[in-house]
Amino acid sequence: MERKKIWLSSPHMGGEEQKFVKEAFDSNWVAPLGPNVDEFENEMCAYLGIRSAAALSAGTAAIHLALIMNGVAAGDEVICQSFTFSGSANPIAYQQAEPVFVDSEKDSWNMDPDLLEDAITDRKKKTGKYPKAVIVVHLYGQSAKIEKISEICRKHNILLIEDAAEALGASYKGKKLGTYGDIGILSFNGNKILTTSGGGMLVSANEEYAKKAKFLSTQARDNAPHYEHTHIGYNYRMSNVLAGIGRGQLRVLEKRVERKRRIYEKYREMLSGNNGVVFQPEIEGSFGNRWLSAITVDPDTSGTDREAIRLELLKYNIESRPLWKPMHMQPVFKACEKYVNGTSEKMFENGLCLPSDTNMTDAEIDETGGIIKDLLKG
Ligand SMILES: *Cc1c(COP(=O)(O)O)cnc(C)c1O
Repeated sequence: MERKKIWLSSPHMGGEEQKFVKEAFDSNWVAPLGPNVDEFENEMCAYLGIRSAAALSAGTAAIHLALIMNGVAAGDEVICQSFTFSGSANPIAYQQAEPVFVDSEKDSWNMDPDLLEDAITDRKKKTGKYPKAVIVVHLYGQSAKIEKISEICRKHNILLIEDAAEALGASYKGKKLGTYGDIGILSFNGNKILTTSGGGMLVSANEEYAKKAKFLSTQARDNAPHYEHTHIGYNYRMSNVLAGIGRGQLRVLEKRVERKRRIYEKYREMLSGNNGVVFQPEIEGSFGNRWLSAITVDPDTSGTDREAIRLELLKYNIESRPLWKPMHMQPVFKACEKYVNGTSEKMFENGLCLPSDTNMTDAEIDETGGIIKDLLKG
């Protein structure tokens, strides 16, 4: 029998999801509100150690609301990590604001704090004002230098949006990622470590943000018996059915983190050595969730390259994927200001996400690692 396809990262149910979904049906809370939504928020707050949360239809919607609530509008600039998925940056454009992209550093693969400082200073010099917000990302679940970046934002009085869409379950100095920014963003898309099939959350120590996000995400209905509106609203709230999936998923999150980290360790045991392969680091003091095990492959010393590995895996029905193409290289953002140092361009050229599906068996990890190993020199 042919082995089933090995995915990059596929939904992995824990077993209790349908119980919560059934509760939604039994009580007829099949709506974008209800007890599962409230409890999912409460349980996520308790897990993260943060005061407030708003469950939404997507992580992208959460970033959009974060910008709206802080008055980001046409003509404003927002700094965004360039090395990320487009969902981090698109909401800046929704507001007719201008993205300014900042490159990564080799230590963390995430936003270079020195380059961020340069960018802030230079934008002030060139435009006369500071960027309205900074969006930092924890790529593939590995921590950015979040304390340093947070300090820089505080010093210049700039809002920090922490895009932890890939980093649920990860922490820095024992504090969960997503809780460092003024606003934290989570995603529960189908391939994320916790999925509701599609969904997201905005979290904050400032309860006003969650409260306002709930208001704006349900069409901004004012307090009146009829429908009264003083604000433009959005239909961004999470369904009570999907929140039930989230509650079930939250109960196995720690197990998924443990398994993702084990997958990474197994690849490392098989593939590390003097062979041109570099694994995404874990910066000191941090604990990553290893959502995706990511490597770069040096074509000069490895005897192979990223694309050869990807195509070879594909022959065996194994999915892998190049690292995110940096936003400053994307045609749609080509006119945007950028502060780059070559890091993310080089990583995009040589980088690959290995299948990191928690549904994989040990034998499948060994098979995948073995195929790659055979392509490497020595
Ligand atoms: C997945 C993702 C998002 C967007 O989340 P959605 O729930 O898919 O809208 C944003 N940023 C990053 C880094 C992501 O990986």
